[in-house]
Amino acid sequence: MEQGSALPTFDFDMAMADVVAMRRSLLSWYHHHGRDLPWRHNRDPYPIWISEIMLQQTQVKTVIPYYHRWLATFPSIAALANADEQAVLKVWQGLGYYARARNIHKAAQILMEQHHGVFPQEGNAVMALPGIGRTTAGGILSAAFDLPWPILDGNVKRILARLGGLTTPLKSHTKTLWGWSELLLDQSHPRDFNQAIMDLGATICVPRSPHCPHCPWTHHCLAYIHNLQAAIPMTEKNAPLPHKNIGVAVIRNARGQVLIDRRRPEGLLGGLWEFPGGKVEPGETIADCIVREIQEELGITIQVGAPLTTINHAYSHFRVTLHVHWCDYVAGKPQPLECDEVRWVEPQTLNDYPFPKANEEIIKKILGPQ
Ligand code: SF4
Repeated sequence: MEQGSALPTFDFDMAMADVVAMRRSLLSWYHHHGRDLPWRHNRDPYPIWISEIMLQQTQVKTVIPYYHRWLATFPSIAALANADEQAVLKVWQGLGYYARARNIHKAAQILMEQHHGVFPQEGNAVMALPGIGRTTAGGILSAAFDLPWPILDGNVKRILARLGGLTTPLKSHTKTLWGWSELLLDQSHPRDFNQAIMDLGATICVPRSPHCPHCPWTHHCLAYIHNLQAAIPMTEKNAPLPHKNIGVAVIRNARGQVLIDRRRPEGLLGGLWEFPGGKVEPGETIADCIVREIQEELGITIQVGAPLTTINHAYSHFRVTLHVHWCDYVAGKPQPLECDEVRWVEPQTLNDYPFPKANEEIIKKILGPQ
């Protein structure tokens, strides 16, 4: 077991009776204070799976309307497998991390082809599906089938790190944390236990200022006993995110249509539509950048006009500033030289296409007050 400073460490081998007491006290707390979440209303693995994937990077309150919309549009694994990827991305639009949506879609097709449309109960088969790692598999298998699979999402890591008084960054403790999650898991009530520990992390053992007086585990928590809750989990100092300036063109033709292109399927925002443009090189003006990018990406000549808007947006690993300009089409046939498809569309139809969140603001500006 890894050691953190001079603190005593949490030793489950020495305290099985305590572990049993912790399971009991957590389940009792959960029965009074657990959250009522829509995906907990039944045991169908399909909606549970969708909720688990949506919750990977997104907060519950944001997920709930997306979850309902998703199930209304794709009510079954078969309906999802048969859907067009563009329709899938459109329903996901705004949730971010679009690889999640593409993976769910691919996984639904695999479930139809290899599992007769039935979600498997074997961990290896579940983890073989795109986008499902060990903790997501644990979440689905315990919630849908009440199987004793542990979980280790961000909330659970934080709780366990505090319980065990880990005063060094969590990255080096992954194996230990999985071991603790596995050992604590109540084998007789895995569904309730996993949901309880997630709820404890979401509502009591929160990242800043945990509500320890309301926690069922204060007697067992080294962070609480040593008043170290604020210092755990220890995080590495994050380097500032790199920043890119992007020149973006809203190109109009003589018929008032605008030009959009669809990104290649792989990579960030793959398969989504966007307004063409690219990174401003050192020493380049925004207008020069836009002219060059449009020639390179689409093989056409344009005239850069007035600024339309400027948008700042942060992704997980970098920030961008989009400098968006109106542009007029001059000459050439648009070709998908660095994308999958390019299309002239009526501005009123822009909302029919899946766009990244940062582009939604551009569409609002194009359409003006409605
Ligand atoms: S006592 Fe406080 S720090 Fe420890 S697990 Fe409970 S809420 Fe978290």
